[in-house]
Amino acid sequence: NRKDCVRVAVRVRPFNKREKDAGSRCIISMVTSSVTIQDPHDPHNRRSFSFDYAYWSHSGFLRDHNGLYVPEEPGGRYADQDSVFQDLGEGILENAQQGYNATLLAYGQTGSGKSYSMVGYGPNKGLVPKLCDRLFEDIRGNQATRQCQVFFSMMEIYNEQVIDLLSRSSRTSGVLRVREEQHRGFYVEGLRTVPCDSVEQLMEQGTRTRTTAATHMNANSSRSHMLIILQLKQVTSANITKQSSINLVDLAGSERQRSSGSEADRLKEGTAINLSLTTLGNVISALADVVVGKRAVHIPYRDSVLTKLLQSALGGNSRTVMIATLSPADIFYEESLSTLRYAESHPDSVGTTPAGRTQGLGAAVRHHHSG
Ligand code: ADP
Ligand code: MG
Repeated sequence: NRKDCVRVAVRVRPFNKREKDAGSRCIISMVTSSVTIQDPHDPHNRRSFSFDYAYWSHSGFLRDHNGLYVPEEPGGRYADQDSVFQDLGEGILENAQQGYNATLLAYGQTGSGKSYSMVGYGPNKGLVPKLCDRLFEDIRGNQATRQCQVFFSMMEIYNEQVIDLLSRSSRTSGVLRVREEQHRGFYVEGLRTVPCDSVEQLMEQGTRTRTTAATHMNANSSRSHMLIILQLKQVTSANITKQSSINLVDLAGSERQRSSGSEADRLKEGTAINLSLTTLGNVISALADVVVGKRAVHIPYRDSVLTKLLQSALGGNSRTVMIATLSPADIFYEESLSTLRYAESHPDSVGTTPAGRTQGLGAAVRHHHSG
């Protein structure tokens, strides 16, 4: 079903120490899949947005003796890593196993929980490791009926440049070129692609390289996008070959850029980050229009490196899932509101669909504050 092509989820995390110490108030509330944000300076001013999923990970949890976040009581309201994986990860995996491409993106300000949701920390494994664990488990279970190979690559996009996170030389200068070929589409020339049957070590290596590269460039990794591509090659017993790729993206922080570098660096960096995030938003909105059935929609894939590389896994029969992450705290009202708007994206198309709601990027329901 093409309507299922783009899905958006929103997740709100617990207070961090800084927010607690500052006596922050939670301004986010959720009912089923709708999210309401309250203006801390004007409590009557509330806006509600509806999405495909809304995950309450702010309260109602305990940490077990391993440090694993679990709901306070069975069936409680706290959304843990498992429930997020069940909703968002499993579908993508099944789709890929059927031979379709998929893209999973995390969007939000720095510190809002993108990496927690995508990669996870310690025992709280996120979508990427959970998806990979399940994939390799399935492959082992189906060995009799199909031959599978998984290829892993991991890169960083910083200032519209691609850095291979699995190649040593990338730490210092290894900027790679993005090329286009008629049948292959856009690809990164010379990118390391590693056949694997587990990804833990590769991810660790990539994360280490990312930190080193950021230090070398005097940059912060929150200003770059991290992209993992899993390629799945399957040969069935009837000798049918299926190929698909799963793109997993931990996006750069969506906050307005404040930089420690020079004015020129800051401008260049800010422009590059905004270019990718804006283009990504435009591409996804345009895809939603295609799904709705508007004709002759131009999809601006070519406008940024990120969307070029994602082209084959956005649109068509591909599935796209975005998880937008929020801080619960009043001090981040502006940032959270802007994240919700981005995730909702295309308010113009509200009501243009038969169901009277936007496809994919969520629909807006506004409670205007009069006076
Ligand atoms: P980002 O990648 O967006 O900069 P992180 O994922 O690193 O942010 O999250 C910032 C902090 O908040 C981390 O310490 C992380 O463990 C914590 N955190 C984020 N999301 C959750 C969550 N859903 N439950 C518990 N802790 C979370
Ligand atoms: Mg992060």
